[in-house]
Amino acid sequence: MNKILLIEDEENIRLFTKINLEREGFSVLEAESGEIGLDLALKYNPDVVILDIMLPGIDGFEVCKVLREKIPYIGIIMLTAKTQDVDRINGLESGTDDYLSKPFNPVELILRIKSLIRRLKSIKDNSDLIMLYPFKLDLYSKSFYKAEKEIVLTPTELSIITIFMSNPGRAFSRNELLDMTWGSDFEGDIKIVDVNIRRLRAKIEDNSSKPKYIETVWGTGYRWNSN
Ligand code: CA
Repeated sequence: MNKILLIEDEENIRLFTKINLEREGFSVLEAESGEIGLDLALKYNPDVVILDIMLPGIDGFEVCKVLREKIPYIGIIMLTAKTQDVDRINGLESGTDDYLSKPFNPVELILRIKSLIRRLKSIKDNSDLIMLYPFKLDLYSKSFYKAEKEIVLTPTELSIITIFMSNPGRAFSRNELLDMTWGSDFEGDIKIVDVNIRRLRAKIEDNSSKPKYIETVWGTGYRWNSN
């Protein structure tokens, strides 16, 4: 299910849009300000953000700029009420994928969202980069970054991170991780998986005794926390 984040301070527009998007099968997150919207975007990694320009606190342009820096592959559709904003939206540096003028027809919005999701998918499919904030994994150069700082990983650790980051939220058993990383003919101790997870956590977690990225799934194995 595609996740849409709706950043709009006018409650009636939010509600009306949410109802229409949910009817279309989208999962919808709502934010009434840019600040809340940014928090939700980083936490839930939506596919597309519907972003109003006039917001209390930081405005839609500022939100757009931060989103682009932190989540390069996020789709952004701006909502504008003023004609002079259209010039800024169309400006090269705005980072917007599309925009709609208010009042808008929900059917039109849904068409725009679907076409944007299709475009984004083909970009993602052809990319060697996996971005899961604050992490970035470059499969071409085999490098891994946390908040833009490179963390040097061993080939085994890199293989495990690649499995996790390609499947956020999915639980993997120790056996699966062993097969996928060491090969099914590996005859050593399965504890090698835990040893490597411990090392990875020490390298990538903020506090490796309270891991929040690589979660333990009791009785099974491990999972990359997708929240
Ligand atoms: Ca507004």
